[in-house]
Amino acid sequence: MNTDRFRKLLQQQRQEILEVLDSGKSAAGTVKLDQTSVGRLSRMDALQSQAMLQEATRRREQSLLDIDESLSKIESGDYGFCEVCGEEIAEKRLQFDPAVRYCIGCKSKLEQG
Ligand SMILES: [Zn+2]
Repeated sequence: MNTDRFRKLLQQQRQEILEVLDSGKSAAGTVKLDQTSVGRLSRMDALQSQAMLQEATRRREQSLLDIDESLSKIESGDYGFCEVCGEEIAEKRLQFDPAVRYCIGCKSKLEQG
């Protein structure tokens, strides 16, 4: 498998997430400032959008962890194997999401709970 390509993709995604996280931090600051000058309803709106922003940030931080994990797996030569069953993950699946950790079978089992 050509892991160089996936390494590049992962580093690219990592960079993009870091940029979004940086801009998200300044957006969260804006919401906080607005709360002092707006009425109760708008404040609830602001809190709601802040909660959504926090959720989006939390998800991005999780993706960042997955990407870091994948990058270290590339270095150690463990990249491209399912964390549950140890089978090779289909290359097409990795192209779609290079930070993916499970094969399609295990992933759907996990999602079903
Ligand atoms: Zn599996």
